[in-house]
Amino acid sequence: MDRTFVMIKPDGVRRGLTGSILNRFEQKGFRLAAIKLMHIDRSLAERHYAELKEKPFFGELVDYLTSGEVCAMILEGEHAVANARSVIGKTNPVEAVPGTIRGDFAMDVASNVVHGSDSPESAEREIGLFFDEQAALYLFPTPQVAASDNV
Ligand code: UDP
Repeated sequence: MDRTFVMIKPDGVRRGLTGSILNRFEQKGFRLAAIKLMHIDRSLAERHYAELKEKPFFGELVDYLTSGEVCAMILEGEHAVANARSVIGKTNPVEAVPGTIRGDFAMDVASNVVHGSDSPESAEREIGLFFDEQAALYLFPTPQVAASDNV
């Protein structure tokens, strides 16, 4: 099963859109494999967007990402990266069509409420940055009942 990394950015969490945004992905058919509310530091924000570090908006992007809690998640499904990108919509909400998350919930490119990985390689790199995969297993634990507990 393919998987991707999605993050509701601080404006999305602050505006109370977490449930509505997650709902879009679940309705599409994704399975939520891990989810975590966290406040990220500048170092993690800079590593996450490392390929954009020469862009003039990089400093503001890091300010934005560290301005409040984000909701990081791993979503599983067929063609996960491409399907998540189509649910999210174009980078600039001005161009994002209605029916997409950015088309429905955002106005400006600098605060476009959600991130989705742009390739399977990026997805694995970003999952590695945000999730300790061993710990993530404990988000949806399978009860382990010791034999002695059954008596
Ligand atoms: N961004 C920005 N100004 C721009 C272009 C991008 O502030 O002119 C921000 C925006 O939050 C965007 C993020 O940088 O989501 C990453 O940009 P990218 O081109 O990777 O777009 P995405 O993959 O998020 O659609």
